[in-house]
Amino acid sequence: MIEFELRRTGMLIVVSAPSGGGKSTILRALLESDESLSYSVSATTRTPRECEDNGKDYHFFAEHAFKSLIDEDAFYEYAEVHGNWYGTLKSEIDAKLASGQDILLDIDVQGSLRLKETMPDCVSIFILPPSIATLEKRLRDRGSDSEEVIQRRLGNARGEVRMADRYDYILINRDLDDTIANMRNIITAQRFRSSRLMLKDAFGRVLVSSPSD
Ligand code: 5GP
Repeated sequence: MIEFELRRTGMLIVVSAPSGGGKSTILRALLESDESLSYSVSATTRTPRECEDNGKDYHFFAEHAFKSLIDEDAFYEYAEVHGNWYGTLKSEIDAKLASGQDILLDIDVQGSLRLKETMPDCVSIFILPPSIATLEKRLRDRGSDSEEVIQRRLGNARGEVRMADRYDYILINRDLDDTIANMRNIITAQRFRSSRLMLKDAFGRVLVSSPSD
């Protein structure tokens, strides 16, 4: 009897949502319930919020240090968002992917589009709030941003929503549990795409390999 085995390398799952869209809660729930998932901790020049830890939520850098990282080609993508710099460090991604981990990335629209160009088989998901009014309420309830920052984030959100069709999947976050379940379904389906898989027999012989191998 021949026993088959499926193998694959990790995949990138890029998630964008206007800030205040409930994205952090969704990502946290996914990471807590799926040990094959890990999180790409971005670099940023933004000031840490009270609840944030360096190295866990972000790697916080002064602007000159961030610019040095750009010069050293340390990023897969970087962008200026709401007046601060954010970037995906190659060092966050490479080792995890090679070890078969799937990586969740929380990045803005510009960064997502750039990453899709360099890594076309990444999965991109856009999460919409039910309305801009809901978004405004969530930003105000969070209580961590000034009026100016809130207005800037709302303005950006209106622009970002128009880019939603550039993503592989679009979800509207009306109910948190439903959105988390839908994210899990997308991730599960993507894990079984033949293009990501290598099929081996009991002797370790490769019967089918993915185009990226
Ligand atoms: P916040 O300051 O609220 O944590 O994040 C602001 C925005 O920056 C969010 O839209 C978030 O997705 C985006 N962001 C966080 N990390 C990165 C990154 O590494 N690259 C890019 N392009 N955007 C990021």
